[in-house]
Amino acid sequence: MRFSLTRLIRPASRRPMTCSEVVKLLQHYLDGRLDERRSVRLAAHLEDCRRCGLEADTYERIKHSLAERQGTLPADSLARLREFGERIARGDEPVER
Ligand SMILES: [Zn+2]
Repeated sequence: MRFSLTRLIRPASRRPMTCSEVVKLLQHYLDGRLDERRSVRLAAHLEDCRRCGLEADTYERIKHSLAERQGTLPADSLARLREFGERIARGDEPVER
Protein backbone atom coordinates (compact mmCIF):
# COMPACT_ATOMS: atom_id res chain seq x y z
CA MET A 1 0.00 0.00 0.00
CA ARG A 2 1.24 3.39 -1.00
CA PHE A 3 0.24 6.80 0.20
CA SER A 4 1.45 10.21 -0.74
CA LEU A 5 3.88 11.80 1.65
CA THR A 6 3.13 15.26 0.34
CA ARG A 7 -0.40 14.93 1.71
CA LEU A 8 0.95 14.51 5.20
CA ILE A 9 3.21 17.53 5.04
CA ARG A 10 1.18 20.68 5.25
CA PRO A 11 2.74 23.60 3.36
CA ALA A 12 1.93 26.00 6.21
CA SER A 13 4.19 24.12 8.57
CA ARG A 14 7.12 24.24 6.16
CA ARG A 15 6.78 27.79 4.94
CA PRO A 16 9.27 30.12 6.62
CA MET A 17 7.75 32.57 9.02
CA THR A 18 7.25 36.17 8.05
CA CYS A 19 8.87 38.97 10.04
CA SER A 20 5.59 39.95 11.68
CA GLU A 21 4.97 36.34 12.79
CA VAL A 22 8.46 36.19 14.23
CA VAL A 23 7.99 39.44 16.13
CA LYS A 24 4.79 38.16 17.72
CA LEU A 25 6.35 34.87 18.79
CA LEU A 26 9.92 35.90 19.50
CA GLN A 27 9.51 36.41 23.23
CA HIS A 28 7.76 33.07 23.66
CA TYR A 29 10.48 31.43 21.61
CA LEU A 30 13.31 32.90 23.67
CA ASP A 31 11.53 31.97 26.87
CA GLY A 32 11.26 28.39 25.61
CA ARG A 33 7.47 28.51 25.63
CA LEU A 34 6.93 28.01 21.90
CA ASP A 35 6.02 24.59 20.56
CA GLU A 36 8.73 22.71 18.74
CA ARG A 37 7.39 23.00 15.21
CA ARG A 38 7.09 26.76 15.38
CA SER A 39 10.42 27.06 17.17
CA VAL A 40 12.09 25.32 14.24
CA ARG A 41 10.48 27.66 11.72
CA LEU A 42 11.29 30.70 13.82
CA ALA A 43 14.91 29.64 14.20
CA ALA A 44 15.13 29.14 10.43
CA HIS A 45 13.82 32.66 9.88
CA LEU A 46 16.35 34.13 12.32
CA GLU A 47 19.14 32.52 10.34
CA ASP A 48 17.89 33.99 7.07
CA CYS A 49 16.72 37.37 8.28
CA ARG A 50 19.42 39.59 9.66
CA ARG A 51 16.95 42.15 11.00
CA CYS A 52 15.00 39.62 13.09
CA GLY A 53 18.26 38.01 14.16
CA LEU A 54 19.34 41.36 15.57
CA GLU A 55 16.01 41.73 17.36
CA ALA A 56 16.45 38.31 18.89
CA ASP A 57 19.84 39.45 20.19
CA THR A 58 18.21 42.54 21.65
CA TYR A 59 15.59 40.44 23.43
CA GLU A 60 18.29 38.21 24.81
CA ARG A 61 20.26 41.18 26.07
CA ILE A 62 17.22 42.63 27.78
CA LYS A 63 16.47 39.28 29.38
CA HIS A 64 20.01 39.02 30.72
CA SER A 65 19.84 42.58 31.99
CA LEU A 66 16.61 41.81 33.78
CA ALA A 67 18.09 38.74 35.37
CA GLU A 68 21.27 40.46 36.46
CA ARG A 69 20.07 43.93 37.36
CA GLN A 70 16.48 43.65 38.49
CA GLY A 71 14.50 46.30 36.65
CA THR A 72 17.38 48.25 35.17
CA LEU A 73 16.90 48.02 31.41
CA PRO A 74 19.14 49.46 28.74
CA ALA A 75 16.82 52.27 27.69
CA ASP A 76 18.04 52.47 24.11
CA SER A 77 17.56 48.74 23.51
CA LEU A 78 14.09 48.85 24.95
CA ALA A 79 13.09 51.87 22.89
CA ARG A 80 14.46 50.29 19.74
CA LEU A 81 12.65 47.05 20.47
CA ARG A 82 9.35 48.78 21.12
CA GLU A 83 9.67 50.83 17.96
CA PHE A 84 10.44 47.71 15.94
CA GLY A 85 7.39 45.90 17.29
CA GLU A 86 5.08 48.82 16.63
CA ARG A 87 6.42 49.29 13.11
CA ILE A 88 5.86 45.63 12.26
CA ALA A 89 2.41 45.71 13.86
CA ARG A 90 1.47 48.62 11.62
CA GLY A 91 2.71 46.68 8.63
CA ASP A 92 5.10 49.31 7.31
CA GLU A 93 8.28 47.32 7.35
CA PRO A 94 11.35 49.28 6.34
CA VAL A 95 13.00 48.11 3.16
CA GLU A 96 16.63 47.30 3.70
CA ARG A 97 18.93 46.66 0.78
ZN1 LIG B 1 12.59 38.75 9.64
